[in-house]
Formats: sequence, C-alpha cells, structure tokens
Amino acid sequence: MGSQTERRNQGPREGTHQGKMPAILTSYHVHSTNSDGLDTIRQLVESAIELGLDELGISDHYVIPEGKEPCPWSMPLDRLPEYVAEVRSAQEIAGDRLQVRIGLETDFAPSTAKALADALSAHPFDYVIGSMHFLDGFPVDAHAEDWEGLSEMDRDIIMMRYWIRMADLAASGLFDFVGHIDICKKFGFRATIDLSREIEAALDAIAESGMAVEVNTSGLHMPAAEVYPSASILRECHARGIPVLVTSDAHSAASLTRGFEHAARLVVKAGYSQVAAFAGRMMRLGAVTPLP
Ligand SMILES: [Zn+2]
Ligand SMILES: [Zn+2]
Repeated sequence: MGSQTERRNQGPREGTHQGKMPAILTSYHVHSTNSDGLDTIRQLVESAIELGLDELGISDHYVIPEGKEPCPWSMPLDRLPEYVAEVRSAQEIAGDRLQVRIGLETDFAPSTAKALADALSAHPFDYVIGSMHFLDGFPVDAHAEDWEGLSEMDRDIIMMRYWIRMADLAASGLFDFVGHIDICKKFGFRATIDLSREIEAALDAIAESGMAVEVNTSGLHMPAAEVYPSASILRECHARGIPVLVTSDAHSAASLTRGFEHAARLVVKAGYSQVAAFAGRMMRLGAVTPLP
C-alpha cells in the first residue's frame, strides 16, 4: 500500500494542470468468473479493447467472513495467489492495446481487518476497493426482503451504523477507494432520520485518508435508480477534495462501461474535471472523459 502521506501529497487537487492532463478512461470495478462475474478475464479484456478503454481493472470479491461460513460469492480465500497471477498474465492477452490493473473488492469489518491487511500485503495490487456488503452480519445489498422485514426504525439504525462504520473503513488505511458508498439505498429504502452528521463524519475521514470514492453506475439499474453516491454526497466529496472515478460494478463483459456517459455528466456537474486512476496502489489523476 502506498503510504497515506505519499498519496495525499501526490494528488494534485482540482485546478492544477488544467488543460494539460490527458483524459483517461478506466473500468476498475469488474467481476470475473473468479468470483460472481459471468465472463472470464480474457472475455473482459477483449471487450475492454473493443470499447476503447485505456485501463481495465479486475476486482473480484475477496470476503473474509466474520463467522465460520465462507461467503458464497467470494473467491475461495486460498485462491488469492492464483487470482493475482491470472490477472497479471492477462496483460499478455492485452499486449499494448490496453493496460490491465490488478484490483480486488474486499469487505471491511473491524474483526477481520488484521487478516485482510496480511492478505493484501502479500500481493502487488494496483488498487483495493473497500466495500461493506455486511454490517455485523446483516447483508446490506443481498435481498430486498432483508430490508422489507425490518421496521422503519430498524432500517434507520442500520443506515446510521453503516455510516459510522464507514468512518472506520476510511481510518483503517487498507483501501484505495470506497465501493458503492451509499449502498443502503439499493432496494429503494431511504433513511427517515437526518444522517447528515454521520455521513459528513465519514466523508471527513475519507478525505483525511487520501482515498477516492467511486461513482458506481450499477445503482441506476436497481430500485435506487441512481448512481452510488447520490448527487448530494458527490457534492460533499467535491467540497472536501475527495477524488472520484467512474465504475460500473460490471459482472459481465457487456456492462464494462454501462452508464458511464451519465456518470461522467454527474461528476462534471458536481464540480470535478479530473478522475482518479491507480497503479501500484498510487493514485494519479486524468481528465474526465466521455466515451470515445
Ligand atoms: Zn460490491
Ligand atoms: Zn462489486
């Protein structure tokens, strides 16, 4: 992991190098058959080349369970070395037509953070996504029924605890960007209490950490019917100088850039002219680009 200091110092904030910075088109939140994606890494690489991407990052699920049961949609934990080797060798398929990045989507929980840190330190990742699909065992984004069975008050409490935990995720220093930051809205449920204090504290912690936040288009196709994060959270990110990048959370080769034009417009509307890219766990910035 690049040190926090390096990352913070390296990232030119908005307004520097205007006009000189080349545009960069990446798709970094991508699942293959190594976890719950439908297509192989080779198929994803070929699609990325056809779509004209500059960089494709594979980010399969790696979930260290809090309980005894392994997570069914995570790669087996002992497969991590083979996974890294396979993504790395995909660069040979791509040749000089595409840069392939080694990513991973991991789950943050305080009880597994040490084991995760150990696993991450053993491999040459380009970036690691920090997500929370579970909150103390509650599956946040698995099924609408999990939320429907709760009272309004219990839903509010889960959302509040989620945002408090998000500040811990940021402070852990384990991740390069946050995955689907407001995923609690996925099934259309919204907090009925004011969570702005918790959300702002989480965003302050993210800004302090030097992490970026993804603008993940998969929410467009869910009952939430908007990207993660919402426009208001995106504006709050911009106000804090938190870098962003557009991702699709693709589970197939056909969806690598799904919703990207829409997301790029939202990013620009929020005040950004640059997006983040990663190599060797260091962040750099490129101009926001529409699809070619
Ligand atoms: Zn996810
Ligand atoms: Zn994902």
